[in-house]
Amino acid sequence: MPELPEVETVMRGLQLRLEGRHIVRAVANRPDMRWPLPEGLAVRLTGARVTGFRRRGKYILMRLNGGDSVLLHLGMSGRMVLTQERSNLPAPHEHLELETDEGWRVGFVDPRRFGSVDLVPTAAEDRHRLLAALGPEPLEDGFSPASLGAALTGKRTPIKAALLDQKVVAGLGNIYVSEALFRARLSPLRSAYTVPGARAGRLVEAIRDTLREAIAAGGSSLRDYVQPDGSLGYFQHAWKVYGREGEACERCPGPPSCAGVRRIAQSGRSTFYCSPTQR
Ligand SMILES: [Zn+2]
Repeated sequence: MPELPEVETVMRGLQLRLEGRHIVRAVANRPDMRWPLPEGLAVRLTGARVTGFRRRGKYILMRLNGGDSVLLHLGMSGRMVLTQERSNLPAPHEHLELETDEGWRVGFVDPRRFGSVDLVPTAAEDRHRLLAALGPEPLEDGFSPASLGAALTGKRTPIKAALLDQKVVAGLGNIYVSEALFRARLSPLRSAYTVPGARAGRLVEAIRDTLREAIAAGGSSLRDYVQPDGSLGYFQHAWKVYGREGEACERCPGPPSCAGVRRIAQSGRSTFYCSPTQR
């Protein structure tokens, strides 16, 4: 599932080809994805000029000159596919197609249809039902050791679960939470209420470093972003613990000296961590 850095990379890829351009053709190939597509979506997009982009958590907002923003969420398996080829037929599972005056074609492909598209007045973006409750952006000033500490105070859930809660901090998912907790040397099993204070300071720094590195990796992937199928935002990145069960991490020797990176299930999802160095 795409998390903040992947969404940021997708947004930057779209920005390269769409910002400042007119949409000359828009086609919705089905009436719904996760939720119904807005009434008259294709008509409202056709002829509009794209004035800018913004990311909020895992959402992309594409702003149009008429005062609307298109709210995009990639869901579990959604992809934005950017091509210059003209095709008479939509690709399989391509639910929305846009074409710019420069001939670039963007397809929103989503086999599982957990993704969504909505329209919201640009002036009221933050009041949209999907954005209104989101917590602070981890790379902005509103996210600090004090604000994170306040959000965790009294929470008896494990810190892993607390960080997946988009009301605590926006944009993190299973991968980046594991990575950030590793960097902060905090056990994913630790109760959230024990984190405020010095640990929250370490955690904020670790979250930011983790996200910034991944965004940088995504940015360099954009240079050759015309991947075989034109998909944006899925880049190769070396995780420190995620997906590395049984391997040595950068801080400990691994088997046979220690068990190496462990994988456990928390709320039905995999968590990877180094038990000797994360407390
Ligand atoms: Zn280790």
